[in-house]
Amino acid sequence: MLLHTCCAPCALPIIEYLLEDKKVKNLTLYFYNPNIYPQQEYQKRLKQAEKIAKIYNLELKVGDYERNKWLNYLEKSLPNSLESYAENEERCLACFRFRLDKTAEFAKNNNFNEFTTTLSVNRFKDTAFINNYGKKLAKKNGLNYAILNLDPYKAHKKEQELVKIYNLYSQKYCGCEFS
Ligand code: SF4
Repeated sequence: MLLHTCCAPCALPIIEYLLEDKKVKNLTLYFYNPNIYPQQEYQKRLKQAEKIAKIYNLELKVGDYERNKWLNYLEKSLPNSLESYAENEERCLACFRFRLDKTAEFAKNNNFNEFTTTLSVNRFKDTAFINNYGKKLAKKNGLNYAILNLDPYKAHKKEQELVKIYNLYSQKYCGCEFS
């Protein structure tokens, strides 16, 4: 399974859940987040993803930091200026689509049969949209999209405990300059 990893803290309870009882035999993390700004912040979050990959002995694949591509996609997708949208409105839905498109493409081209995203277990995000879009993409690409059966509140609590144990950096904003 390819797990799109938006950031290390969010991934922690999901990795534990997927590895528990060997629900997933082969798990690979995929860090593809050209939304993160500025680049120093991107590097900081990437370092944390590398750290957890080591802790859990997982392979980590890293996509390109295609910042302009991400910005162009959002600008082309939306009628209004990017800063005019509140969090979880259309700008974020386009951001989710962009990263999920790339995740499904990566999964298909690299012989994964299943993918999902850490974005789908989150108290603040439109997880119904994320899961529906993931399922559509999976169908289009002959893949399976995994719905993560986790309570986002319990997952957050677990995340906080594990962040402390592993001494991870935990960011205070979603990622882009508009958040
Ligand atoms: S707030 Fe977060 S999800 Fe929304 S566009 Fe910015 S980085 Fe993407």
